[in-house]
Amino acid sequence: MSITADPYVPGHGDTRWAADHYELELTYKLAGNHLDGRAVVQLTTLEEVGDIALDLYGLRVTGLTVTGAAVARWTHRNSRVTIRFRDRVSAGEILLVTVVYKGAPRPMPGPGGRAGWEELTDGVLVASQPHGGPSWFPCNDRAADKATYRFTVTTDAAYTVVASGRHVDTRPAGRRRTWVYAVDAPISPYLATLNIGPYAAWSQSARVPCTLYGPAGRGAAIRSAFADQPAMIAAFERFFGPYPYASYDVVVTEDPLEIPLESATMSTFGSNHASRAWANQRLIAHELSHQWFGNCVTAGQWSDIWLHEGFACYAEWLWSEESGGPSAAEQARRHHALLTRLPQDLLLSAPGAADMFDDRVYKRGALTLHALRVALADGAFFDLLRGFVATHRHSVVSTADLERSLVALVGASRGRDLVAGVLDPWLRALPLPKFPE
Ligand SMILES: [Zn+2]
Repeated sequence: MSITADPYVPGHGDTRWAADHYELELTYKLAGNHLDGRAVVQLTTLEEVGDIALDLYGLRVTGLTVTGAAVARWTHRNSRVTIRFRDRVSAGEILLVTVVYKGAPRPMPGPGGRAGWEELTDGVLVASQPHGGPSWFPCNDRAADKATYRFTVTTDAAYTVVASGRHVDTRPAGRRRTWVYAVDAPISPYLATLNIGPYAAWSQSARVPCTLYGPAGRGAAIRSAFADQPAMIAAFERFFGPYPYASYDVVVTEDPLEIPLESATMSTFGSNHASRAWANQRLIAHELSHQWFGNCVTAGQWSDIWLHEGFACYAEWLWSEESGGPSAAEQARRHHALLTRLPQDLLLSAPGAADMFDDRVYKRGALTLHALRVALADGAFFDLLRGFVATHRHSVVSTADLERSLVALVGASRGRDLVAGVLDPWLRALPLPKFPE
């Protein structure tokens, strides 16, 4: 039985169960890219099931046990581990699934390209958005399935491990070292990440503990490039509400990266991004803002990706204004003019899997927020953003949830008018609306 949780990532996820916690014990040898893994997944069945499926790509399962139900048999085909039970398991049962696996992890192909585990010149990063989680651990790979995580990673002693969550422990393990990280707030599988590299660490003084990681020789450039991050956190807390996690980390890889990427409690940048140029400062602000929009408040379906990228792009414009650059309105006007020259054949409320990361999703999404800001004025607009985050903290949302927050803020009648008059033309029609002012 094949179940697809989201048409934008066909073949991933099982809506019949939800993960509560992932306990991942990984041993990784950089030479030869060899991973030995043991995952204990605590899950709850959401309906009566005869079988369940987990996603795991390109790695070989060498053992599988379940506590809480008798297993008839299990198979691993086409990146799906299917466990068939001897008797049907009722809804609401808690099971512990232990999967032992090994192999040479590699990024997983998907509609928009490859995502997940990636070898660097000297190290590893995991960039899973949107479908790469199964490239390194067995999971229920749907964005809506949030769980807590603990990563215990053993690797060559000369390397630093940075995983999602707070750093709990580092201890020697023979000629290697073991690193432990814990994510206490529930996160989506695609947002769990791991970075391994010959990295030094620099801590930043901010409202939450911030650590910058990167090659020791690039320390000065990295510290300078990310110097405004504490001020960004302070500004975004004012705009969006409290920072949602216990810490924020940044990893800068020696390898240049085409684009940086957000993951839970951290972001990964390439050495090419470590500068004070606006082209990079806006990316630093963008990735940070995803901790609120994308990571803490997550679109339950990828068709609502504008709730991540439109908001993060608008956060860039807010930071531009906050840091003494062009105002958000000036940024919005410039990008509106650029959009008028591009094809208007992308529906923001349903861009399609192939175009979900098209730049027009980012810019038109940010302009949608700007239109709402102009219609509401600043006080109500930022109340809306903070209320939306607070209501859906560590949960999943749809565009309808944003509209409900809007109605809750301004009342049913004005709310309906704003949805029809402001949001619908930006989200649910193809032509570019005129610039809002
Ligand atoms: Zn983004």
